Amino acid sequence: MDCGLALSRPTASVGTRTQFRLRPIPMSETGIFLGTDSGATTSKTGGIRADGSLISHKLRQSSTNSQAGREAVIRGWIDGVNGFLAENNLTWSQVHGVGLAIPGPYQSYGVMGRSANLPASFEGWNFHADYGRAIADAAGRAIPLVVGNDGNYGGVAEAHRVRAGRKAGVLMFAPGSGLGCAYVDPNGLPLDGDTLNGMEGGHMPAPLHLLGHVHPFRCGCGRDWGCVEAYTTISGLPQLLEVFLPKHPRHPLASSTLTPKEKVLSLRTLAQKGDPLALDIFDFQARALGLHLANLLIALDCEFVVIGGGLIDPEATTAEFRERYLRGIRAAAEPYLWPTQRDKLQIVPATLGELSQAIGAALVALYQFGAKV
Ligand SMILES: [Zn+2]
Repeated sequence: MDCGLALSRPTASVGTRTQFRLRPIPMSETGIFLGTDSGATTSKTGGIRADGSLISHKLRQSSTNSQAGREAVIRGWIDGVNGFLAENNLTWSQVHGVGLAIPGPYQSYGVMGRSANLPASFEGWNFHADYGRAIADAAGRAIPLVVGNDGNYGGVAEAHRVRAGRKAGVLMFAPGSGLGCAYVDPNGLPLDGDTLNGMEGGHMPAPLHLLGHVHPFRCGCGRDWGCVEAYTTISGLPQLLEVFLPKHPRHPLASSTLTPKEKVLSLRTLAQKGDPLALDIFDFQARALGLHLANLLIALDCEFVVIGGGLIDPEATTAEFRERYLRGIRAAAEPYLWPTQRDKLQIVPATLGELSQAIGAALVALYQFGAKV
């Protein structure tokens, strides 16, 4: 029988990447790989088969419950897996690997740093070791576990979809409150970096001279060089509104009594109705994102760029608006690309939505622990 090598059973996990013992497994081996997406309030569980296909389009939701401590969070993740297995008539015996998508920052692989979204007691938590132990208890045997940045894992899932079995690099942008960036290499794995900060592309400087010499905006990270995130996401909308409102002095928002937050949150809805101020602002965001895309493509030279985030969500924006936004991104990038890049580049909307991070975590588990088929 043909055999491949798979990685199994953690043998050490003290502050470094876990070492796994190699064991031969049959090439025909089937099995499933699960992904846990740990969010601030809700955790989601999804899964895939060994051929990469989805077990279900429905995620299992469980409470993250971080206020109740680390053990409660682990319990929530295990409840999520148990629920997902039961809903899909599966058992732990079929699980060959688990992935966990969880926001950083980390102190080291699998160890939580100081996070604004978690109680202070979570700092220094070795969630890789604790979740690995809980999985072993639930399954009655050790199951390999891989952990990583949630944005990166979302990129892995979208990349798996757009590459459709081909070898190609994929860059993903997810502009929301901040700018999620991920680069997924032709083997399907994300660029993690040595200090585990990953690709924080949102905090690279924007080329302000190509954006009408707009001044350097403030950014939550504290850098003063005009982070791209501030020009492309909700976080910078109040500053963008200050720049654009004087150009539309008769606009209702110029005399509105709404709070600044309410004003910026009304922009997306206004843009769907063709409001000139709102469209100006989102055209500017598209241009800033397109320039950043070109900047990163010079370095990464990938064929696919996936755009996620609220502006590309079919439930939040019109088809006409989404086309305009993607067209604006491409138009800003094209003059700065090499001719072959211009011909080959595909800029596509994200489609997996809230599935992406759990499924991406399951895919990384498959790539790391699955049989080579
Ligand atoms: Zn920044």
